[in-house]
Amino acid sequence: MDNNKEKRQKLVVLGGGESGVGAAILGKDKGMEVFLSDMGTVAPRYAAMLDAEGIEWEQGHHTPEKILDADIVVKSPGIPPTAPMVRAIADRSIPVISEIEFAGRYTDAKMICITGSNGKTTTTMLTYHILHDAGLNVGLAGNVGRSLALQVAREPHEVYVIELSSFQLENMYDFKANVAVMLNITPDHLDRYDYKMQNYINAKFRILNNLTPRDAFIYWQDDPVIRRQLEQVTTEARMYPFAEHVERDTKAYVGGDDNLVFETPETSMSMPRAELSLNGLHNLYNSMAAGLSACLLDIKKEDIRRALANFEGVEHRLEFVADIDGVRWINDSKATNVNSCWYALESMPSTREPSVVLILGGKDKGNDYTEILPLVKKKVKAIVCMGKDNKKLLDFFSPHISRMADTHSLEDAVAACREFSTEGDTVLLSPCCASFDLFTSYENRGDLFKEAVRNLRH
Ligand code: ADP
Repeated sequence: MDNNKEKRQKLVVLGGGESGVGAAILGKDKGMEVFLSDMGTVAPRYAAMLDAEGIEWEQGHHTPEKILDADIVVKSPGIPPTAPMVRAIADRSIPVISEIEFAGRYTDAKMICITGSNGKTTTTMLTYHILHDAGLNVGLAGNVGRSLALQVAREPHEVYVIELSSFQLENMYDFKANVAVMLNITPDHLDRYDYKMQNYINAKFRILNNLTPRDAFIYWQDDPVIRRQLEQVTTEARMYPFAEHVERDTKAYVGGDDNLVFETPETSMSMPRAELSLNGLHNLYNSMAAGLSACLLDIKKEDIRRALANFEGVEHRLEFVADIDGVRWINDSKATNVNSCWYALESMPSTREPSVVLILGGKDKGNDYTEILPLVKKKVKAIVCMGKDNKKLLDFFSPHISRMADTHSLEDAVAACREFSTEGDTVLLSPCCASFDLFTSYENRGDLFKEAVRNLRH
């Protein structure tokens, strides 16, 4: 009889995606008894990984006896706390943690954690790019790249750059960032937060948990929501605010001669704003946040400058697709809320006559389009609605924009854009909405858009 067996901790993982499978493998490596359960289907790639590791798993249902026998549960961020199984687990007072929290227990690596409503992926990739190019042993984790748990288990790094959504932050308790980044907070995912903005803000601010005076908090100084919340909460972290215009204590800003300036206790450097590879005000902020993170890790100034200048951007985020007969086609399929479309429009050139043909539409998450109306009036010559039901968009914009098309497929939308655009114009897919009415994901929407645009050449 194996006495150790009785003492083995029982880990149950809910959700068999990237983070769940990573957590299961890490748990197994740490000697736990692991069971993974997924209500939906586990992708063949992950099923194969679990089988190869000899980890017991199920799909299509949850077996309560097995799950409720757990000592600890790692829950995928996609499963809401209101799911019946999660409620049952909570009723038994079994601790439920996120994969990041779990993985954080088994590594001493430096953690750069990035959150915000918009710009997380771009800033995470850009920060990773700077550190990786400078020769650091760095891993990319969270919503992008491989799961933190799998890397900690099988491919450990000295530094991780981690994209954290509010969902992930919900189940984090003892985890501690070394550098915490908060880009902005605008309404998003409110359906998951009882439609209470404060609940969403509180989840985001969990990124401050456990920060010590040796850690840093980088944030956008002009964000009214962040400013207000900072008056309510306390943190011991060193503060690194960034803003377009310098104020008291601003550590990154645009100074004289349109230079991007970083001025921290660790370093002082500048570079021409025009040299940043990513355009637009939002990307100025993202570059500031990434640059400050790099300053805190003592990356050489020339390495930071070079990487901020040669970063190639992230797919589906203001991605240039093609120039066809003098018309530029841009894929910003990831703009799934109104605020990100605002920044996309803001980054479009100001021409004498409006020159943007804008594709909007999809699954509306309770959008209020008032925010983008001034920019639409200034820069947009035509709107092509692309969704199952475009009534809300047509009603809202038709008093202001005379050229509007009501389309229900990508092909028709692209054809309408072709009709509306002339040389010198930009066609911008920045839909403000989720993709699930006509597509399987924003990636799928962006990929099909790019394919359709490239086919216009033939
Ligand atoms: P996230 O990972 O937070 O969803 P992404 O980097 O994927 O953010 O960008 C999503 C969308 O938000 C893009 O379409 C982009 O145009 C817009 N965006 C990027 N950075 C910012 C920012 N700092 N503020 C507002 N919008 C942004």
